[in-house]
Amino acid sequence: MTKDITIVGGGIIGIATAHTLLTRHPGLSVTVLEKEAGLSLHQTGRNSGVIHAGIYYAPGSLKAEFCRQGHAATLAYCTEFGIAHERPGKLVVATSPLELERLAALENRARQNGLDVRHVSSAELHELEPNITGLGAVLSPATGIADYPAMVRSMANQVVSSGGQILTGAEVSDIVEGSDGVQLTLADGREFKTSHLIACAGLNADRLASLCGLGDDFAIVPFKGEYFRLATRHNAIVNHLIYPVPDPALPFLGIHLTRMIGGHVTVGPNAVLSLAREGYGKLSLNLRDVASMAGFPGFWRVMRDNLHSGLAEAGNSTFRSRYLRACQRYCPSLELGDLLPYPSGIRAQAVMRDGSLVHDFLIRNTARTVHICNAPSPAATSAFPIADKIHRLAIKAFALKGAVSRV
Ligand SMILES: Cc1cc2nc3c(=O)[nH]c(=O)nc-3n(C[C@H](O)[C@H](O)[C@H](O)COP(=O)(O)OP(=O)(O)OC[C@H]3O[C@@H](n4cnc5c(N)ncnc54)[C@H](O)[C@@H]3O)c2cc1C
Repeated sequence: MTKDITIVGGGIIGIATAHTLLTRHPGLSVTVLEKEAGLSLHQTGRNSGVIHAGIYYAPGSLKAEFCRQGHAATLAYCTEFGIAHERPGKLVVATSPLELERLAALENRARQNGLDVRHVSSAELHELEPNITGLGAVLSPATGIADYPAMVRSMANQVVSSGGQILTGAEVSDIVEGSDGVQLTLADGREFKTSHLIACAGLNADRLASLCGLGDDFAIVPFKGEYFRLATRHNAIVNHLIYPVPDPALPFLGIHLTRMIGGHVTVGPNAVLSLAREGYGKLSLNLRDVASMAGFPGFWRVMRDNLHSGLAEAGNSTFRSRYLRACQRYCPSLELGDLLPYPSGIRAQAVMRDGSLVHDFLIRNTARTVHICNAPSPAATSAFPIADKIHRLAIKAFALKGAVSRV
């Protein structure tokens, strides 16, 4: 079977990319291959559901630019196609003098990113959020929430009605790029020939990139985010999304209180090393994943450099009382019995060989393939601009216009 463009991965990035290609090039032959039985079963369906406004990201970075654009594009898409979304706004709450200092830097960064934010005093915080305490906060009124899996379903339907194909149960296990096309082998032995390949494989991004000679200097390190859900009687415990002030050295935002689509409130996620890329249970272990992590020098460096925060996170994960204390810093009325089980998610975080965490989105390409190597949060918010960037790369690298004229 020959296809013009094959996309690997049925998460929000793969489906948004298929959607963008078909919207801009009607008639282009696009196939999405997803290894699971359905779409959005990994990061896209196991996240906080937040439409980030873009407060945190380094000015000039892809994250800063794409998050701002993606915020608007996500809201526009949800409005146009009736996807559940809300704009409760977000408060980043400082609970110590050090966090107040960091909060000022964060507010400054948000302004540099062109966002509408304002400082909130401790007294005003109490008025806005009677159940939250802090020394001060930054309010981002634009931050929202969305049903990302519903958004993916909607885009996937549009892909199929525009002539695209989405195949589930199709795990790509080998890729051979040649001068006249790309040969794909699936885990069940089926073979595909495609002119061009776009890999949006999330937690397997490094493995697919390696098959194309692009992945030897980085590896995906999986960080589990464990959540709890508050009992229904706490559905109105907060009016906004409540976030702590993050450690600027880490790419994680800290345990937050999130009002979800559906009305319930989640607490989380923490960030603990996962011993399986796609194992969501507390004791999940995958020997292949552990062996590939242990054999990558950057993994040991990142563990060494973040030992203190890693141990603290592991403590929060092991002892629910410690997890609770992290939330009680800003929401003192919460009790142990309020924390009910909720599914966890696992972040695909790229780490370089020297142990540095890749903070920005990372996209690489060969003559016939494009690989999304690092697309952690806020990549759900940023899906449309990431897809647009892939489209621009595809026009350049694949001479996409030629591909279209051949259809
Ligand atoms: C705990 C957590 C909280 C988050 N919170 C937010 C948030 O509030 N807001 C936000 O904007 N972002 C958030 N994110 C980030 C966001 O969810 C991800 O950045 C985004 O979903 C990435 O989408 P993706 O399509 O790249 O990856 P995924 O959704 O993981 O999709 C990748 C797909 O590729 C498939 N695949 C992998 N290998 C193969 C193969 N060999 N063959 C075929 N298919 C393959 C997988 O099965 C999977 O379906 C969060 C992430 C986590 C984990």
